Amino acid sequence: MYIKDLNDFSPLDGFIFESAFSVGWLDKHHFYNKGRAPNLFLDKLRSLMLAENGNSYYANPMRGTHQCPFCGLDYFSDKLEYRKMSIGSAELWIPTQSGTYFVAPTMIIHYIQEHDYSPPTEFWEAVMAVDPNRNFNAQEISDRLTIATD
Ligand SMILES: [Zn+2]
Repeated sequence: MYIKDLNDFSPLDGFIFESAFSVGWLDKHHFYNKGRAPNLFLDKLRSLMLAENGNSYYANPMRGTHQCPFCGLDYFSDKLEYRKMSIGSAELWIPTQSGTYFVAPTMIIHYIQEHDYSPPTEFWEAVMAVDPNRNFNAQEISDRLTIATD
């Protein structure tokens, strides 16, 4: 599923989350910005994905996994190889300072690490600004917004 970066997140036809914006929904047929991500950013993103702070930034897991459109990979091994996680099967929700959210495929970390995808600046800033001590449950937020726009 391709969605242009920073467009309204719209997981289904005719359905929009007004305060959620898309990041990293890439495919083979659309140009994307490239660049090298700083380790600080990757470490923060990885810690959120592994939920090392006890919160959950995942929502709407699907059965099965989605393969990387560029290389076919469907799992993610973190730097230390101590944990393998499936990355093609859910949404990653990142809160912003202004009360909106970025919604990315969990595959985004692989796109950044292996395919030099450079997400919009707003997304970098939001990831770096996430306070790990603040309660966050992505599924609750996704469910709430779904009802609100129904
Ligand atoms: Zn890949």
